[in-house]
Amino acid sequence: MNYISTRGAGIGERHTFSDILLTGLAKDGGLYLPSEYPLVTADELARWRTLSYADLAFEVLGKFCDDIPAADLHALTRSTYRAEVYRNVRAGEDANAITPLTPLGVENGAQLSLLALSNGPTLAFKDMAMQLLGNLFEYALAKHGQTLNILGATSGDTGSAAEYAMRGKAGVRVFMLSPHRKMSAFQTAQMFSLQEPNIFNLAVEGVFDDCQDIVKAVSNDHAFKARHRIGTVNSINWARVVAQVVYYFKGYFEATKSNDERCSFTVPSGNFGNVCAGHIARMMGLPIEKLVVATNENDVLDEFFRTGTYRVRGAAHTYHTSSPSMDISKASNFERFVFDLLGRDPARVLQLFRDVEEKGGFDLAASGDFARVREFGFVSGRSTHDDRIVTIRDVQARYGQIIDTHTADGLKVAREHLDPGVPMVVLETAQPIKFGETIREALGHDPQRPAAFEGLESLPQRFEVLPADAARVKAFIAEHTGA
Ligand SMILES: *Cc1c(COP(=O)(O)O)cnc(C)c1O
Repeated sequence: MNYISTRGAGIGERHTFSDILLTGLAKDGGLYLPSEYPLVTADELARWRTLSYADLAFEVLGKFCDDIPAADLHALTRSTYRAEVYRNVRAGEDANAITPLTPLGVENGAQLSLLALSNGPTLAFKDMAMQLLGNLFEYALAKHGQTLNILGATSGDTGSAAEYAMRGKAGVRVFMLSPHRKMSAFQTAQMFSLQEPNIFNLAVEGVFDDCQDIVKAVSNDHAFKARHRIGTVNSINWARVVAQVVYYFKGYFEATKSNDERCSFTVPSGNFGNVCAGHIARMMGLPIEKLVVATNENDVLDEFFRTGTYRVRGAAHTYHTSSPSMDISKASNFERFVFDLLGRDPARVLQLFRDVEEKGGFDLAASGDFARVREFGFVSGRSTHDDRIVTIRDVQARYGQIIDTHTADGLKVAREHLDPGVPMVVLETAQPIKFGETIREALGHDPQRPAAFEGLESLPQRFEVLPADAARVKAFIAEHTGA
C-alpha cells in the first residue's frame, strides 16, 4: 500500500504506512491517503461478519498496513481491542463486543440503533483510535530504537484520550498543555490523576488559545523540534482515521442480517475524522446507503453538504456549545473527502485549500462537482442546544436510554434522513456523564457514573503549573527529555 498527499507531493515516491505513522501533514501541507482504496470482496465480507472486533480490526487494517508483519499486527489489535480496555459498559451491553449496538426502535419504517464507541478509558470515541495508536507507536519506536515526545494542547477530550493511550508506553512521553483551572472537575481529575512518569500535565496560566499558541510556537522552532523529537497526535493522523474504519464494518454487521442489505450511519461531526472513516469504508465496498453528517450550531459542514459552499468561520463565529467536542471553525480532515470528490485531482485540491487560507472558503455549487456528493452517500443536518435538550428527554422517555449531547445532535439529524427498511445506526461518541450539566438541564438529575469512575475527583493529582510562555514550556520539555 502506497500513500500519497492530497496536494500532490510525493507522487512517484513510495510512502508506506510505517513511514507516515508518526507524521501529521504531508510536506506540501496536504493530507495522506492511500493511492487507491483496497476493495473488500463478497467472500471477505461474508467471512468478516462473525469475527470478533480485534480480528475484524486485523483484517481491515491489514489492507492498509501491509508493511507490518501479519503476526505483529494481529498481536497489536488483540492487545488493543479487549473487553478490559472497553469495559465501561452500561446495563445490557456486552464488553466483549467492544462497540455494542443498542436497538432503540422503529421510526418511519427504519430500525434506529446506537453504536457505543465510548466504552474506553476516557468515555469518548477518540479512545477507539487512540488506544491503537499508543500500541502502534510503542511498536514502531521499539523497532527503530527511537523515542518520541508528544506535545499537545487540550481543553479536555483529546488530551485525556492521548494520555490514556500513551501512559506507560516505552519510548513515548506526553507533554499536554491545558488551561489552568478552566476544565471541568471531572476532566481535570481524569487527566491529572495519571501517575505514570511518562505523562506530563502542564497547567498553563491562560486560556485554551494560549496553550495552542505555545504548541504552534514550539512546533515552528524546527531545531528544537528535531532535537527533542517532538510529535503530535492530532486528528489528521492517518492511523487515527483508518482505525475508525473498523467500527463501520462492525456496526454494519450488527445492524443487518445479511450482506445483501444496506444500512445508513449518522455521525456527530467536528473535524470530519469520524465520518471520513465511514466514507473510506463505503469506498472499500461496504454497503452503506447514507452517511449523515450531523453538526451543532457550528455548521460549517452542514452548510457545505446542503449548498456546496465551504466557508470556514472566524473566532467570533465559532460558538461554545453544549456539544463542545464539535465546536470547530474548519474541519481538518475535510480535504481528504474533497480530494475524492474532485476525482483525486491534487492541483485543484491545492487551489481550493489555498482559497480557504486566502479567501476563507470555496464554492463547488457552480461546477458540476457538488452534484456528486450524493453519489458518495453524503447528506447532513444541524442541531441546536434546544434540539439536544428535547432529544435527550425524548430518548429517555421513549426508550429509557440516556444519551450524551453529541449523540443527541446525531439522533436529531438521523431522524431527518430515515428511509423505510434501511437500518439507521447513530454513532454514540461520548457517555453522558462527561456532559452532566446539560443532562441535568434536560432530565433534572445526573447520569449514572461508570463504576471505575467513582471517587475520581478525590484521587491525588500530578501536574505542573506554568506561565503562558513558550520559552518556559520549552525549558520544561528540555529538562524532562534529557536531550
Ligand atoms: C471529537 C468528537 C466528535 C467529533 O469527531 P470528528 O472526528 O472531529 O468529526 C464528536 N463527538 C465527540 C464526543 C468527540 O469527542
